[in-house]
Amino acid sequence: MTPEEKINTLRKALNEHNYNYYVLDNATISDVDFDKKIKELEALEKEYPAFFDENSPTQRVGGAITKNFETVVHQNRMYSLDNSYSLEDLKDWEKRVQKNLGTDKITYTCELKFDGASISLTYKNGQFVKAVTRGDGFQGDDVTANIKTIRSIPLSIGANFLNDFEMRGEIILPLDGFEKMNQERAKNGEDLYRNPRNTASGSLKLQDSAEVAKRPLDCLLYQVVTEERKYLTHFESLENARKAGFKVPNTIQLATSIDEVFKFVNFWDKERHNLPYETDGIVIKVNNLRQQEELGYTAKAPRWAIAYKFKAAQVATLLEEITYQVGRTGAITPVANLAPVQLAGTTVKRASLHNSDQIEKLDIRVNDTVFVEKGGEIIPKIIAVDFSKRPENSQPTVYASHCPECNTALIRTEGDAKHFCPNQFGCAPQITGRIQHFISRKAMDIEGLGGETVDLLRKEGLIQNYADLYDLKIEQIIPLDRMAEKSAQNIINGIEKSKQIPFEKVLFALGIRFVGETVAKKLAKHFTSIDAIMTASFEELIQADEIGDKIAQSIIDFSSDLGNIQLINRLKSFGLQLELSAEALENQTNKLTSQIFVVSGVFYQMTRSELKKSIEDNGGKVSSSISKKTNYIIAGDNMGPSKLAKAKELGIAIISEQDYINMIN
Ligand code: AMP
Ligand code: ZN
Repeated sequence: MTPEEKINTLRKALNEHNYNYYVLDNATISDVDFDKKIKELEALEKEYPAFFDENSPTQRVGGAITKNFETVVHQNRMYSLDNSYSLEDLKDWEKRVQKNLGTDKITYTCELKFDGASISLTYKNGQFVKAVTRGDGFQGDDVTANIKTIRSIPLSIGANFLNDFEMRGEIILPLDGFEKMNQERAKNGEDLYRNPRNTASGSLKLQDSAEVAKRPLDCLLYQVVTEERKYLTHFESLENARKAGFKVPNTIQLATSIDEVFKFVNFWDKERHNLPYETDGIVIKVNNLRQQEELGYTAKAPRWAIAYKFKAAQVATLLEEITYQVGRTGAITPVANLAPVQLAGTTVKRASLHNSDQIEKLDIRVNDTVFVEKGGEIIPKIIAVDFSKRPENSQPTVYASHCPECNTALIRTEGDAKHFCPNQFGCAPQITGRIQHFISRKAMDIEGLGGETVDLLRKEGLIQNYADLYDLKIEQIIPLDRMAEKSAQNIINGIEKSKQIPFEKVLFALGIRFVGETVAKKLAKHFTSIDAIMTASFEELIQADEIGDKIAQSIIDFSSDLGNIQLINRLKSFGLQLELSAEALENQTNKLTSQIFVVSGVFYQMTRSELKKSIEDNGGKVSSSISKKTNYIIAGDNMGPSKLAKAKELGIAIISEQDYINMIN
């Protein structure tokens, strides 16, 4: 054998042993022999560096250090899932799916919902190239070096599956591995990890991949994403992924009705406690991939899938104190401080009480014994009071009248569930919170500057508002606690760079109440500059797409505040983008103004989202369902028969992708 052949033979054997052990859970070689083979391969690779392969089994031990995880835009957005909690919810979902597809013959897959951290694994030519966390769904962190250490993830696969594809799955920490990690920590007198899920997702962001390699992480796969149209159904694609070497749990099952789905739900609601890892529900997906495409996505989640959440764990504990938190908008949130209690694997000490109505409705009082529930949310909630345990001297809760931070009298406006501290410019958490929002990733995305530093800068009297950031000098930052010249320079650079951030993001960054990301985009497009927005009348504001009374009033309030006007003028003088760029304006037309489109089927010249964006850029509106108001239906391949029938019945123009392109050119 030549050295190259030897190396390849060893790699092949080791990959197979890894697969047998970590995927099939069936060891075919002793640890000692495995180590011997690894050592042998390592020696050969060292001697013949020309045959280096980053996907060699020797690369699994880690060693690479990542200081900053690079942000990567997802090729395909990682959506979240809509939730359901009952058979009824599922039946409602089924009705919507049937209506959208125009048929009641639908096959579903039922899967377990694994409780860990989602991951996207990219393969090119059958080789693993990249692993990215979900992040905000649009972009995540590149954690390739860490993921490579998880031995159940194949680094190269055979030719029988797909070439270029993405595998989606969940990085989990099996229960026994989690226990072992905690035993180790207990022995060393260290704080214990709180639960497997957080420990798994925390592991992905460790800087030292050798440290990750030591953790017993695993990866369970549940979705194949690809342009290759080799498989017709989701189930088939997963079965083949499993054959190709991926760890696809064989708990996945087909169902032809929601009643059948519910049998699966009931079975696993009990049986899940015998699984070696944690699950928090079931995921139901439409099996046919064409039908998935036809159903598409809402703003947050696929229409072709839904999660069913198992009933949340509940526990009773003592409410010791109610405190109040002030958010960046001045909104007050009451917080229950509880006697610490174990719930679904975590220690719970605090729960949100939402607002004063909630406290009144449940008649929650200090020293009550309360029932706490933890669903999918991170913050647990109080669902009821155990009145039988109420102490005799108990007094009804009197809601806070003054801000706990600045002592200003709280106000509550008609129709608002929350109380507010009106001291916008003088209340510390509001000042800090607004600046933190301003610099955040979806807003001005100022690198190098974190929330804690903002608070520090404010305490030192260096910034009182976001405009002050642009007056900061490096000499002022360096002397701060834990600052060095380099990090101070990074902050200055990040601030400078933010002057290029496009207008719609600046608008979002301003933190005007009710002006979220989407609203900011709509406003930017409609008015094209901050001046136009701030001088618009109420009537002019509500003319804009999706701007209702509440948002319009909030903008008027913001614009008529002298302090805000001064802030905006300063931002202008620093050179921030306070109007749409020429380029952004150029791509937009009013060709389709007040035309409503429905998009259905599969397209070839543009993706569905490109098509939708193009409609919006040209002033049109996209709607998800056909009604009398619809002007055009753009029909791709495989348009649902029910949609077609409805369109014909209402006499709506049905056009092709090409017709549309002709229309805007
Ligand atoms: P949520 O975080 O509640 O929006 O639920 C969506 C998340 O569920 C996804 O990002 C996945 O990480 C996770 N998940 C776990 N198991 C599955 C599964 N079988 N199919 C799809 N998503 C799953
Ligand atoms: Zn205050």
